[in-house]
Amino acid sequence: MEFKDFFSILKKRISDGADVPYFFRDLIAMITDVSEEEWGTQKDPSTKLTKENTLRNYSKRGLSKKFAESIVYRLDRNLFVESINQRSVTVRELLADDFKAYDATATEANIGELLADCFIEIIRSSAGFVQQSVLEKQAQQKNALELKNKYGDYLVNEANHTCPFPGCGRELMISRAGKIASSYEVSLIDKKKAPEVNNLLALCPNCYATYSIDSSTKVTKQLIGVKKILVGHGQNVALLENLSLEKGIVDVLKKVKKLNQKDLSNASLDPKEITQKISPEDDFALYMTINSYVNAYYVRIREIMTNADKRGEIDYDEVQYQIHAMYKKLKKAKKSKVDIFNEIVQKIHKVSLMDEILCQIVVSYFVQSCEVFDAIA
Ligand SMILES: [Zn+2]
Repeated sequence: MEFKDFFSILKKRISDGADVPYFFRDLIAMITDVSEEEWGTQKDPSTKLTKENTLRNYSKRGLSKKFAESIVYRLDRNLFVESINQRSVTVRELLADDFKAYDATATEANIGELLADCFIEIIRSSAGFVQQSVLEKQAQQKNALELKNKYGDYLVNEANHTCPFPGCGRELMISRAGKIASSYEVSLIDKKKAPEVNNLLALCPNCYATYSIDSSTKVTKQLIGVKKILVGHGQNVALLENLSLEKGIVDVLKKVKKLNQKDLSNASLDPKEITQKISPEDDFALYMTINSYVNAYYVRIREIMTNADKRGEIDYDEVQYQIHAMYKKLKKAKKSKVDIFNEIVQKIHKVSLMDEILCQIVVSYFVQSCEVFDAIA
């Protein structure tokens, strides 16, 4: 079904006479919580809204790729179904009658679901994702089920029961009528590589379905970064017990000054809550990792650093400046938060040759103390 036909059915039945741009905005708000500022559309400078003509064009000629890409990973099927089911029985019957030309099984009772699936399919194909054939879908579901049986529990724990897809954060286990049920699928990260545990992530059904037909490498790269953080955190928690934290941290910090950074700047000394710098919804894996390190080590590390500074083993101010300078440089290069975190850890790891865990802890400390990541506006 094309978007223009979908749009015109819904416009006729549920718009209450609203004009095209107004109803378009309503319709999008029924399927996603992505706000209009985040849509990949050109804005009218006077109203700061998407140009009315653009929206009229979409309703006649279909959604642009850029626009579809900006919402495709944040579609909420239930939201749409609920919104249709709130309408009167008469309206739903009319919608079902209109939709029968596309699906003869349409009834007042199932029209919400049918329209939601149809809308999601339209948005996915507008984003350039190719729908799978029935056979492909079946083969993939079979594989996914095998992977879920084999690795599911492990991967759900690794992701701390939350969909690690950037921007998602849905729960992977949900309670229904007092019982806990799984709400996830196991996805390959790099689809060209083997289904080994290091190439797998537990994703919520929505992210899983969208990613399975997304052939762009951009998202794959993001997911590789996410996995790196989750794996590192998992291994590190186990490893930590055998390490001498104090010596390790001091050794890491001693080496930080060897990093060659010239563009030093004033660092903020006012520690802010991590939630002010990393949004759990956008980067859950990163948030969880840093949060757990900070909870466990922040006070301890501050002590270690103060003492090492007093003994002249490290120069705390200098370390602080170095880290902040690294962050600023990476931020300027427009790297994602996940990439920034991983790269700083890598840099420190390379100069200190200390365990990556210690480097992660140190960088987490500096996230909390505000040298890495600015507060979200
Ligand atoms: Zn998700």
